Formats: sequence, structure tokens, C-alpha cells
Amino acid sequence: MRLSQMLWVTLREDPAEAEIPSHKLLVRAGFIRRLASGVYAYLPLMWRVLQKISHIVRSEMNRTGAQECLLPQLQPAELWQESGRWDTYTKAEGIMFSLTDRLERPMGLGPTHEEVISAIARDTLRSYRQLPVHLYQIQTKFRDEIRPRFGLMRGREFIMKDGYSFHASEVSLKETYETMYQTYSRIFARCGLAFRAVEADSGAIGGSGSHEFMILAAAGEDEVLYTEDGQYAANVEKAVSLPPAVTPSPFTEFQRRETPDTPTIAALCAVLNCETHHTLKQVIYEVVYDTGLRVMVLLSIRGDGEVNEVKLQNELSRRAASFGAATVLRLRVAEAADTWSDGEVPLGYVGPDLADDLIRGEKLLHPQFLRLTDRTAADLTDFVTGANEVGVHVVGGNWESLGPLPPVGDFRKARPGDRAVHDPSQILQTARGIEVGHIFQLGTKYSQAMGATFTTETGEEKPLVMGCYGLGVSRLAQAAVEQSYDADGIVWSPAIAPYTAIVVVPNVKDPQQMAIAEMLYTELNAAGMDTLLDDRDERAGVKFKDSDLVGIPFRIVTGRSIAEGKVEIVNRATKQTDLVNLDRVVAYLRERLG
Ligand code: ATP
Ligand code: MG
Repeated sequence: MRLSQMLWVTLREDPAEAEIPSHKLLVRAGFIRRLASGVYAYLPLMWRVLQKISHIVRSEMNRTGAQECLLPQLQPAELWQESGRWDTYTKAEGIMFSLTDRLERPMGLGPTHEEVISAIARDTLRSYRQLPVHLYQIQTKFRDEIRPRFGLMRGREFIMKDGYSFHASEVSLKETYETMYQTYSRIFARCGLAFRAVEADSGAIGGSGSHEFMILAAAGEDEVLYTEDGQYAANVEKAVSLPPAVTPSPFTEFQRRETPDTPTIAALCAVLNCETHHTLKQVIYEVVYDTGLRVMVLLSIRGDGEVNEVKLQNELSRRAASFGAATVLRLRVAEAADTWSDGEVPLGYVGPDLADDLIRGEKLLHPQFLRLTDRTAADLTDFVTGANEVGVHVVGGNWESLGPLPPVGDFRKARPGDRAVHDPSQILQTARGIEVGHIFQLGTKYSQAMGATFTTETGEEKPLVMGCYGLGVSRLAQAAVEQSYDADGIVWSPAIAPYTAIVVVPNVKDPQQMAIAEMLYTELNAAGMDTLLDDRDERAGVKFKDSDLVGIPFRIVTGRSIAEGKVEIVNRATKQTDLVNLDRVVAYLRERLG
């Protein structure tokens, strides 16, 4: 492609809309344009990057035997009602764009395709003989994100590769899952990215079957905890750890203590001269289920810990059925006490034995606290905790007297510096990452809800066992920039760069420079290397700046050295410059591209 014929618009200034480097650079270098919040046009340079990534994705997916297809984006509400996700997706989380057609039928724009693919599987898969089978697509997804930001990182319209596999057994699912783990690793490696696979939260479904692939970058929205021995890496949402060790409690006798003005753990410990790990704190949450029922949750956790709300939400989802509900609509720290109580709630001085009758009698308000205990709290003895009276605590408390001990679970947020569970001598380290892939063992959640069954070898009717595998194609394109740029602009890895090389003619009025540039341009493209020709009537300095900003891996300059039959080749990443004989240019690039 000749620059004189291209849409090539670079900006000197950073765009006001952009906060992080990759977003600024992609706008400045003319890869993307914003149309509305979270909605971007992929300009020709970006489209080439996306196609290169898609090509890598396709070639790696196809070699596993997965088959590409293209599923509808316009999806009838009934499918989502069958799976039970319509209300959560359109109302609670509101992530799904929905509309009503001319016949008043509700529909949605696909944020993901489990429902559609399950409906197709239900119609087409009948027998174990057809299994396993794996279908994938590369397509635009729509999600009405609460906070669209960072350009393509969190868009409301974005490109995803999503795949769904169907199996006769868990064993078969695990095989495909393992293959996908390897496939994703190969895809990211081929794209030239530094990444880490981490254990991920798999929601209320639970199980160990979910990994996320993180591109390591300081601007990443996700926190990853890992150990240096390479044995453990997890999203902080999911991570487990050993809590910091405790010293013996200074309080061996059960007593009430006047502790005025100590609503926080820090203030309390200063007054009582003890450590935060000697205290037991209660956090009150409010969960709203899909039936509209509100339940007040009284969660006890050791004073030096923080609650991991993802873990809590998973537990509350698992308990939904016991409240006659299907899913959690919303979970948050309880609002002002008068939203749920007519009494005096001693906030800041609450004990695990806070009386249920504080909860207001109301039709959609559960009359008792759902009491839960974090494991760190369950192990505490002789602890300090609230006496359910403002300005008063108890010391030397034990579950025998303050209990009974409520159900115990892991609700604690693991932190960097904590000891690892697999080996306490390993300390958790922290890193930031951009989630570009998520693979998931779904099991029978959707097939059961939607009646997607098959006949086993022995003639039994069973729900299909499913896996799903997402990869954010457009997010990956930007994450690659976030991981690789410098003061002059983007540094694409050759595998996904929009073009491999650019031939820059310093002076287009010089016929010899132009003739050699044309020759190299033709030769390189013929050799299969996507090459640009900067034939614009611009100063050489402007052209060099542009090619650096756009991040083309190799710049070939037909400058003064052509008098000796050589051109200058500059490597964008290393800045190394070589003088190369005209007849060696193709070979030179080939050697470096591997
Ligand atoms: P996140 O936690 O970042 O919201 P998710 O868990 O909702 O992501 P999945 O449903 O697993 O994401 O989607 C698969 C992949 O699609 C993600 O790993 C990510 O790379 C990409 N993705 C998800 N949401 C967006 C978005 N709003 N914009 C761009 N890419 C996205
Ligand atoms: Mg995810």
C-alpha cells in the first residue's frame, strides 16, 4: 500500500478522551476512532492487526479440530429465559442490550452465546457418537458495560473469539480444556506477548475448572497473585492464602470493656493495646435475590482481614435455593441501618451474636441474619469483639459463649505478602494483568436448564457436558500495545503488526530514490512481507516520526547510501540500524522474522 493513497492520519497531541498509553497511541497513530462511549471504529490499520490476530487464533483453533461457525447476534429472549439469565442480564446487571421487535417480541444483542449454542446443540446433537464436538466463532459482542473505558480494553461493542465444546463425559471435557489451555498459550506466544495463565473465579458453579490468561501490564484492571516457584498463580478474586500468623491473645478472661470512640479496628487496638489479629469484626451485607427478597448477612472475619466479595457472592448464590430464589441480583455492604432496621444498630460495635429482632418486619426482608464465618475467625480464641452496644466491646471472647459458630467458609481476600497454601515458605507476589482469555468448564449448567441432552452408549438420556472458551480479540490488540511501546510510539511484534516493513523515500522528487523504493516495495510484497511505501511529499523527519508512531517493525530508507547500492534498515524495537545491500533486503528481513 502507498501512503499517498491511504487513510493515514496521525496526531501530534494526545487525545483528551484517553487515559492509558495504549489508548492514546492507538488514537494518535490512526488505528481507532471513538464514535460513542465504548464504541470504536477500527480504521484500516487496526483492521489489519485484528485480522492478523484472528488468523493466528483460527490456525491454532482449527488444528485442534474445532470448527468455525457464525452465530446470530440478534437473540430471542425466550432462550435467555430458559437458561434463567434474561432478568439478570437485562435488569440486574443490565449488561445486555435488549429491544422489542415490531411484533412486540423481546430480543437481545448477544453479549455471549451459551444460550444460542445450547439451543443448536439440543437440535443437532443426539448421540454419544457425535461427541465431542467444538464450535467457535469470531464475532462482535455487545455489552452495556457499566464503565466502558480505556478504548478497546472495555468496549460496549468488541470482537471476541468464543468457542463451546460438547462432551459425553467430564473426562472428555477435561481433555479439551487441557488442549485449549495449551492452544491459548500458543496463541499468545505467537502474538509475541508476555502472559500468565491464572486460576480464575468460576462463579457459583464452583469447581477448579477455570483459567484466565493475563497479559502482564501495569495498566491492567486485574490483580494477579503468584509465587516465584511458578506453582501458583490466581486472580485475586479467586486467590487463597494462609493468613498471617497470630500471637497469643493478651486477654484470657471474658470481660466487657468500655471503649468509647472505637468504631474502627485501628482505634480499638490502640485503646486496648492489642493486635488487629486479636479482634473479630462483623461486616453486614445486604443481598437481594431475584425474587426481590432481601437478606441481611452478618459476616465475621478476623480483624486484620478483608472480605473478598466475589467469594461471598458465590456462597450466597449457592444458598439462593434455600431462600426460594435462583440467583443473586445484588450484593453490597448494608446501607444506612434505617433501610433495614427500626432499632438502634450499634454500628462499629457489632458482635457475632447481634440479635435478629433488630431486622424490621417486612414482607421481602428475611427476618434473621444469615450468619457466616470466615475460617480465620472460626480459629480465633480469646478474641476482642463488639458487645452490641455503642462504645462497648468484649475481650477474651470465644465461640462457646458467643456462638454457636455459624457456617464456616473462605471469605478472606488473599494479599501480597501472605504465605502460599501449597508451600508456606513461598510468599504471594502481586502483578497487574489484562484479561485476554478465559476458559471454563461449564459442566451441565446450560444443557440441563435448556434440555440439551444426548443418548449414551447404554441408551440413557443425559445432559451434554459443556466447556466454553473466550478470547478478547480487540482487547488483545490493545493489550499488545500496552505491553510494548516507547517514547516514540507503538512497538508491534511482527506477528501482529499491521505491516511488516515500510519503505521510506526521504525525497520523492529524486527519481533514483523513487525507483529503488518502488523496486523494494514490489519485491518485499511479492516475497509475502506486507510492506508500505511512504511516497508522500513530506519531510523525511515527518515520515520517520510517523513510522515510529505507527510502530512498523522495519523501516527501509532509500537515502544517501543508495549511491553505494545500499539502504538503511532500522529495527523499530531495538533502534538498531544496518546498511544492507539492495539485493539482500528480502533475505535480511526474512532472517529477522524467523
Ligand atoms: P471482564 O472480567 O474483563 O469484564 P468477562 O469475565 O466479562 O471480562 P468473558 O465473558 O470471559 O469476560 O469474555 C471473554 C473475553 O472477552 C475476556 O477474557 C476479555 O478478553 C474479552 N472481553 C470481555 N468483556 C470485554 C469488553 N467489554 N471489551 C473488550 N473485551 C472484552
Ligand atoms: Mg472473565
